[in-house]
Amino acid sequence: MTSLRTRERLVQRLMEQGVSDLKVLDVIRNTPRHLFLDEALSHRAYEDSALPIGFGQTLSQPYIVARMTEVLLGAAGGSLKRVLEVGTGSGYQTTVLAQLVEQVYSVERIKPLQDKARQRLRQLGLRNVVLSHADGGFGWPDKGPFDGILSTAAPRFVPEELKQQLAPNGVLVIPVGDREQSLHLVLRVGETDEFVTKVLEPVRFVPLLSGTAR
Ligand code: SAH
Repeated sequence: MTSLRTRERLVQRLMEQGVSDLKVLDVIRNTPRHLFLDEALSHRAYEDSALPIGFGQTLSQPYIVARMTEVLLGAAGGSLKRVLEVGTGSGYQTTVLAQLVEQVYSVERIKPLQDKARQRLRQLGLRNVVLSHADGGFGWPDKGPFDGILSTAAPRFVPEELKQQLAPNGVLVIPVGDREQSLHLVLRVGETDEFVTKVLEPVRFVPLLSGTAR
């Protein structure tokens, strides 16, 4: 099928840009990104660009999906069991994660986006994803702690609630900032209440609209 060929080309481009985790590349190769877009845009699904999904939101650029996933897996340094995603959006990043970790919890504040994502996940037969319609800036306290948390919307500061829901040695990958944003990697140090933050590359995300963004 042509979409497989164009996906292969996308994977080549991601490798050229420095994505090196073969498991992540394999999942990108096998995930039909066109199913996560409205029909009018689906022919652009394998360009390496962010695309609108309605309600002023965007499906992230494949490079950033791959990169964040790679950072999450790399920092966790083993297999991830429970992962929280903040900002389900189209469900594409959710689907990528679901193929790499045991169980994904994903929170979205815009109900119609969540409904569409749910349909797609069902269509793809993914059984290890649970969705919630809520303000993900508060995490998902009932389901935590999480080995990994990945946010696809940017708060101005890392919400304390997300850090507190990290399991021992848990890893949080999150874009932070307002007009200027950068990707942050926050690691919980063992079982302590200490965290180490690494600031990675500049990024561009929609804002995290949350009661935690004080
Ligand atoms: N992961 C998505 C990216 C969607 S853009 C994808 O692959 O398509 C980020 C999403 O975060 C948007 O859908 C937006 O509605 C959502 N969002 C923003 N603030 C949020 C909040 N406080 N809680 C939950 N979702 C939020």
